[in-house]
Amino acid sequence: MDNNSNFIKNIIKEDLETGKHNSVITRFPPEPNGYLHIGHAKSIFINFGLADEFNGKTNLRFDDTNPLKEDVEYVNAIKKDVEWLGYKWENLLFASDYFEEMYNRAILLIEKGLAYVDDLSADEIREYRGTLTEPGKESPFRTRSVDESLQFFKAMRNGDFGNGEKVLRAKIDMASPNINLRDPVIYRISHASHHNTGDKWCIYPMYAFAHPLEDAIEGVTHSLCTTEFEDQRPLYDWVIRECEMESTPQQIEFGRLNITNTVMSKRKLKQLVDEKYVDGWDDPRMPTISGLRRKGVTPEAIQAFCKELGISKGSGAVDSAMLDHFVREDLKLKAPRTMGVLNPLKVVITNYPEGQVEMLDAEINPENPEMGTRQIPFSREIYIEQEDFMENPPKKYFRLFPGNEVRLKHAYFIKCEEVIKDENGNVVELHCTYDVETKSGSGFTGRKVKGTLHWVDATHAIPAEFRLYEPLILDEDAEMEEGKTFLDYVNNNSLEIVQGFIEPNMKDVQPYDKFQFFRHGYFSVDPKYTTKEKSVFNRIVSLKSSFKL
Ligand code: ATP
Ligand code: MG
Ligand code: MG
Repeated sequence: MDNNSNFIKNIIKEDLETGKHNSVITRFPPEPNGYLHIGHAKSIFINFGLADEFNGKTNLRFDDTNPLKEDVEYVNAIKKDVEWLGYKWENLLFASDYFEEMYNRAILLIEKGLAYVDDLSADEIREYRGTLTEPGKESPFRTRSVDESLQFFKAMRNGDFGNGEKVLRAKIDMASPNINLRDPVIYRISHASHHNTGDKWCIYPMYAFAHPLEDAIEGVTHSLCTTEFEDQRPLYDWVIRECEMESTPQQIEFGRLNITNTVMSKRKLKQLVDEKYVDGWDDPRMPTISGLRRKGVTPEAIQAFCKELGISKGSGAVDSAMLDHFVREDLKLKAPRTMGVLNPLKVVITNYPEGQVEMLDAEINPENPEMGTRQIPFSREIYIEQEDFMENPPKKYFRLFPGNEVRLKHAYFIKCEEVIKDENGNVVELHCTYDVETKSGSGFTGRKVKGTLHWVDATHAIPAEFRLYEPLILDEDAEMEEGKTFLDYVNNNSLEIVQGFIEPNMKDVQPYDKFQFFRHGYFSVDPKYTTKEKSVFNRIVSLKSSFKL
């Protein structure tokens, strides 16, 4: 990371120089209530990247303090995604393992007169909290004795009360200009099974209380989070101090990543999954790590993208074309080039001997000659792209039209002699002639043609399915409009499925294999829909980009 705006790096450097810390410990703390998305990748990159730069360590800690929304399915998916992105955590930790210690720290606060059990309802607490311009109002239970609060808190733990009947609140300052300090709730009752602790607990700590304790218990030195937690920092420090934690982590905020034409919150992504707008968390249109993986985006591209983002505090939406740019950069030299015809039109080469098949040599990647060559069959019948023929072309159309000659990539020049139509007037076949002199690689210079078409041999081609994607969300800011939600802006045309053909040498492709199809862009073999009979290719990115770094 060599970004000038890397203020976090400067803080860490200073902490090491002044001896405030001898080593750096960071953590990536997802709540297991959904799958990771590309925003999390930014956080992972920063946490692991910074620790690594200073020879420090990074833990993967599940921030699992809300039993209702959490699940082991998410725990496992998150582990898989962090590993796939290329990171190795030092320790795998669960906040729920510290419930006993958190409980004891809460007891300490009560004993110090810094926390009390409140009987107000959630609605009343919200009402009493006041606003930015008006101070809050104290709860009548705020003056409850230490003994009574202790007794009630223990009874809460024992299961003597129902959900919402009582809460534990920190006693700080109901008139504070920072609303977070107006006696925040730090424990609530929730009679719910927890994925890790089962039915052991029926009270659970709130995030604002739990998070600083988790960091301190683990000896985290720099607790990096997104800027919406800036106002929570005074509470974070208060908890660490008043709970008398030995270690004092420092919370530092960085800008949240937002990307154009998508939503980036687990809650919204879960809604898209649950309401079947997409085909699961790993749908290739999703900004989830699993969706990007299934689509064919590489960890290297995501890392390069995060590196370019840097750490700045801003959180304006980043153009999704920027990630596409890094995908092309990464695959340019790695992905074999090949030819696939997405919307086939049959071409019969009438002067090519019937029954004859010849094998043509084709370079696998002109930008990376080390990848060698492949062999592709050529015979009397081939497929070209429907859009590469026009009966009545406009000016400057250099592809095939009656009487015109074009080059077939890796093969010969062909000339369109006759157009065959069905009874409805649709073009169903072209009759062409080829010129044996013009064979690719023969050094033919007799005449020039302007168009080069890709093609596949019709007798040997393998049927394949191509899935082309458009953005999932048409306008991610539009939900600001009254009475609308982001679901009103889901793009109904975000997936186009096309049946076509690929070169026969691709018969053994495996899930996640990546190719650059001539003119169509980069594709990856879909792991879910590919069968023995038919390969399914997800388009990762097209070739064209207007994006400039
Ligand atoms: P979401 O709103 O998507 O549920 P979250 O912040 O609640 O996000 P967590 O599981 O708590 O999700 O996030 C784990 C870590 O990832 C946190 O430190 C959080 O700040 C960070 N993170 C989450 N979303 C982004 C984002 N869009 N950009 C950068 N960091 C993010
Ligand atoms: Mg969170
Ligand atoms: Mg969240």
